[in-house]
Amino acid sequence: MTDLKEIICNHIHLNGPMDIGTYMNFALGHPEYGYYMTRDPLGKEGDFTTAPEVSQMFGELIGAWLADMWMQSKVDSSFLLTEFGPGRGTLMADIMRIAKQIPAFEAASSIHMVETSPVLRQKQKQSLSGYECNWHDDLSTLPTGVPLFFIANEFLDALPVRQYQKANDNWHERLIGIDDNGALDFGLSGTLAVDNIPEFVAGKPNGSIYEAAPAREQFLNTLMLRIKEQGGCGLFIDYGYTMDRDGDTLQAIQNHQKCDFLHEPGQADLTAHVDFSMIERCAADARINHAGAAFQGAFLLQLGLQQRAQMLKAQASEQQAKDIDTALHRLTAETQMGTLFKVSAIWSFPDIVPAGF
Ligand code: SAH
Repeated sequence: MTDLKEIICNHIHLNGPMDIGTYMNFALGHPEYGYYMTRDPLGKEGDFTTAPEVSQMFGELIGAWLADMWMQSKVDSSFLLTEFGPGRGTLMADIMRIAKQIPAFEAASSIHMVETSPVLRQKQKQSLSGYECNWHDDLSTLPTGVPLFFIANEFLDALPVRQYQKANDNWHERLIGIDDNGALDFGLSGTLAVDNIPEFVAGKPNGSIYEAAPAREQFLNTLMLRIKEQGGCGLFIDYGYTMDRDGDTLQAIQNHQKCDFLHEPGQADLTAHVDFSMIERCAADARINHAGAAFQGAFLLQLGLQQRAQMLKAQASEQQAKDIDTALHRLTAETQMGTLFKVSAIWSFPDIVPAGF
């Protein structure tokens, strides 16, 4: 038994079956054994590859988007250039390469990384050597009083979800317990969970699953209020859906393969798809502007991905040119990241039009 599994089993013995959100918090964020705390999970040698790791073009276009928003908004003070869950720091490094070309934008920005993993913070320091960066455990310590520009790529999917399932015409929370063989196993709460079930899903047949994301909602509401108060804008990019839906989207990935969600906690990346209608709803509640969700492929092409690829290819070797085409395909094709990944923008400034939607 792994150390983390033992800790989780002890917790269950003491407190009874555990909700999925608590399990995800243990598996991803346990200070000593949590998945993100102990390793760099990204890239070929890791467990999964994200868009900034596919190609520098991704971060460069995001940088251009942020710079365009900055110019349109006519922000004349300094501002926070913030990334939530910055991984290896690749995306921020690509953003800063573009920022160099707009000196006033670069000069007014101060870089803020919201990152819980000490291992990844170290990587980010390396990627951004030469830049002054500030690190935060969560957004509560981000400075107030100046506009907040941000990017969150594959961040929301890492925040924990909870699930409810209908059985015998009643809704119960899906909980994790221990079976007769000592293995972690899914079960249902004895108590009913009617208060947590939205109308669109309530009448679904027995066996249906509804996924709620209270931790995401809390993060989004806090962020939107900050944007409303201090001004700002940003992008959420993630895999997810835009229409109300039921069903289980939990996923565990190890070494680029799907694996069992409960097997070896702390050894696999755990995620759930992002409900983009939640982002729109939270923006409306905070009375700030929202665009999206767009497909990642369409968004990047509108920002000029094809042209950027041509420019890079003009100075590339034959092999590099091939790699650029492969990256372009991965980022945009329907069979790859093109439509599964969605993009939403929020902004507080009046009378501006965000590019790409
Ligand atoms: N945005 C990067 C990495 C995505 S992986 C990229 O696109 O390559 C998810 C990132 O979010 C990791 O850096 C992980 O350590 C971080 N993370 C996960 N949960 C977090 C939390 N609750 N608060 C802050 N960062 C978190």
